[in-house]
Amino acid sequence: MSKFRETVLDIDLKAVTHNFNFITSKLQENTKLLAVVKAFAYGSDAQEVAKHLERLNVDYFAVAYAHEGVALRKAGVTTSILVLHSQPINFKLLIEYCLEPSIYSMRVLNEFITITTKEKQKNYPVHIKFNTGLNRLGFNVNDSNEIAATLESTENIKVASIFSHLAASEAKEEKLFTLQQIEAFKKVAIALKNKLNYNPILHLCNTSGILNYPEAHFDMVRSGIGLYGFGNNSEIDKNLKPISTLKTCISQIHSLKKGDSLGYNRAFIANKDTKTATLPIGHADGINRAFGNKKGFVFINNKKAYIIGNVCMDMIMVDVTDINCQEGDEVIIFDANYNANTLAESVNSISYELLTSVSQRIKRTFYL
Ligand SMILES: *Cc1c(COP(=O)(O)O)cnc(C)c1O
Repeated sequence: MSKFRETVLDIDLKAVTHNFNFITSKLQENTKLLAVVKAFAYGSDAQEVAKHLERLNVDYFAVAYAHEGVALRKAGVTTSILVLHSQPINFKLLIEYCLEPSIYSMRVLNEFITITTKEKQKNYPVHIKFNTGLNRLGFNVNDSNEIAATLESTENIKVASIFSHLAASEAKEEKLFTLQQIEAFKKVAIALKNKLNYNPILHLCNTSGILNYPEAHFDMVRSGIGLYGFGNNSEIDKNLKPISTLKTCISQIHSLKKGDSLGYNRAFIANKDTKTATLPIGHADGINRAFGNKKGFVFINNKKAYIIGNVCMDMIMVDVTDINCQEGDEVIIFDANYNANTLAESVNSISYELLTSVSQRIKRTFYL
């Protein structure tokens, strides 16, 4: 009988160090590294991972929303934190916790200046984001004169960085588009920088950008998925280590006779005598219903077992007819070998989505 009897997400902080060192090895000596720890550090644990990265002397953190930054501050993280998707409703909170907003439109810029006046702030660090082709968040590249004029009119804020985000840094077939984004960013960032009498940090690349466009690292790069062990490319993945293992155990084994059904709506009907294992993990834990009905799989004693029937909220059932196993045996959903990207691909998804789906209900354990 194995030692644990519940579902856990094991997080290997040594693997974080390994990935951090690999990414750092791709940078010039003076290039800063910002670690993206949004969405619970891609479904792992933002506090523990950020504190570990802080021990490795990471230069900056980024989260998507202000509340994620507040949680890091409450956990004792002192490194600068960029809030990528800042929202005026949280500006007061953001200032209270020394979080630095991405400013992506005139509306957001003016709202932030108003609140910094109320809160009596001087030189509060902000990050000016330009849209260079993703068309998601960001000032138009033609806005730089208006931004500069607004910045000149106030001492409340100071531009800590100017940045943009690549749309297709992992796609070789979009190289031309990416090179255009790099040029557009270079042009607008330098134009704005020349209007300031100080030197903000310029940054553009995410993980795939770091690896595929070394000429576009500027002063800092932003890595998320790479730190968690994935590089959007099987060659690069060989150099990285997935940091998390999602594992569970067999709660019960059933023997179905030919013709028996299993699970909700009788989605599985045994066409022969079938041995099934019930596992304590379901769609509320991040196993999307799309994995049901033999799309997704787990590993038991190093053998692949397909998920059969519909995924339930708290459980899945897998076919173990040809697997020598018993109740209590360990089950791997994904780990460094059976990686999350392969499982995600079985339902046309990506590592990012599966990792960030692992619910907060699942206990996290850490090892160094
Ligand atoms: C999420 C995010 C990143 C991190 O991207 P990875 O592909 O995970 O390295 C970087 N920059 C921005 C603006 C993001 O939203």
